[in-house]
Amino acid sequence: MMTSTTLRSRYDAVIVGARPAGAGTALLLSRHGLRVLMVDRGRYGADTLSTHALMRGGVLQLARWGVLPRIQAAGTPPVRRATFLYSGEPISVPIKPRDGVDALYAPRRTVLDRAIVDVALEAGAHAAYGTRLAGLLRDASGRVRGVIVSGDDGQTLEIAADVVVGADGLRSTVASLVNAAITHAGRWAAANVFGYWSGLPVDGYRWYYHPGLSVGAIPTNDGLTCLFVSAPARRFAEIFRDDVAAGYQRVLEESGADLVPAMKNAMLIGTLHGFPGQPGFFRRSAGPGWALVGDAAYFKDPITAHGITDALIDAEYLARALATGTDQALEAYDAGRNERARGLFEVTDRIASFEWTLDEARKEHKLLSEAMAAEVKALNAMAMEGASV
Ligand SMILES: Cc1cc2nc3c(=O)[nH]c(=O)nc-3n(C[C@H](O)[C@H](O)[C@H](O)COP(=O)(O)OP(=O)(O)OC[C@H]3O[C@@H](n4cnc5c(N)ncnc54)[C@H](O)[C@@H]3O)c2cc1C
Repeated sequence: MMTSTTLRSRYDAVIVGARPAGAGTALLLSRHGLRVLMVDRGRYGADTLSTHALMRGGVLQLARWGVLPRIQAAGTPPVRRATFLYSGEPISVPIKPRDGVDALYAPRRTVLDRAIVDVALEAGAHAAYGTRLAGLLRDASGRVRGVIVSGDDGQTLEIAADVVVGADGLRSTVASLVNAAITHAGRWAAANVFGYWSGLPVDGYRWYYHPGLSVGAIPTNDGLTCLFVSAPARRFAEIFRDDVAAGYQRVLEESGADLVPAMKNAMLIGTLHGFPGQPGFFRRSAGPGWALVGDAAYFKDPITAHGITDALIDAEYLARALATGTDQALEAYDAGRNERARGLFEVTDRIASFEWTLDEARKEHKLLSEAMAAEVKALNAMAMEGASV
């Protein structure tokens, strides 16, 4: 068990998972004066599957929390343009300086997740890595009262807490232990295979759409471009199982992406990474002594590159609810998130279906853009209500 300090036997909040949702929540609650512990079974600063693109709402959160300067200092390239290409026909959208955001960013997770954790630790949160949630403590009424965790070293600890937050991702252990029901499920899923390329510079985000498949090129740290291909999950085995690299190349060529010729002079750094797809869902996200946030609470297909942004936004809504200390505020957090996120979820699900014509894809992107504008408007309204939690 690698800890940032000697652990207490009791915290105001124990947060399981120390990535965007968990570290963001820990940062805000610590600034509010709560004693917070993050536990994560992984290692500090470890990489994870991601194509990194942040949207305006996510960058806005990082700026407000004081994390963005660290992302910029790590040399993460600013993204000032997003180009959508529909079978080659481009629509270029400048990223207008607005709402305190003058560019988007796509930091590697080794940069982003570490920066949020570091700011949370500076705010007073504690962290334990190599530490897995093994069980929940409950009182006689069934209310969650803490966690049982076990370290890589075999050490097991019981830690009491007023609230346990599951920020432990798609296959959340907290969600299983509290039997958090799926309240709404998506129908579709997209498979995603990506790699990091040097010598393949791109001007901002480039999103390519072609009937039945899509491609994205995202500039990230160290001069690399994250290049992903996406296809219906039901075709994952057919395209990628025998030879991932050949499937990746085939989708790139079929997409007609204009950067394919330049790949001859570019180099793949490391290996390709794959995600076979998973339909989206909303889970019940609050109950007596517990709450869920990030992918644990609400997962949508990565095709709209919105999971990190949502995790950062929802961390703020959850932290505000937890700061009030009432079960009603937690219930309202759950209901509010469902209402806020539903539009973007449904658009994402339809895009992940690949059952669209290019005209329909354009319309879905317009709806997506409107949903993102609404989410930024809501963040601005929340900021007017109070500078921080
Ligand atoms: C292929 C792919 C591409 C993506 N691309 C993008 C993109 O371009 N833009 C974007 O915004 N989003 C993208 N996403 C989505 C994004 O990665 C997630 O939405 C985001 O990571 C969610 O953050 P989180 O903090 O909720 O959970 P996670 O990042 O999943 O973190 C959960 C943490 O919980 C820990 N944990 C789990 N179980 C336990 C346990 N029992 N005990 C202790 N610790 C535990 C894990 O070790 C992990 O560190 C992508 C996802 C995939 C799969």
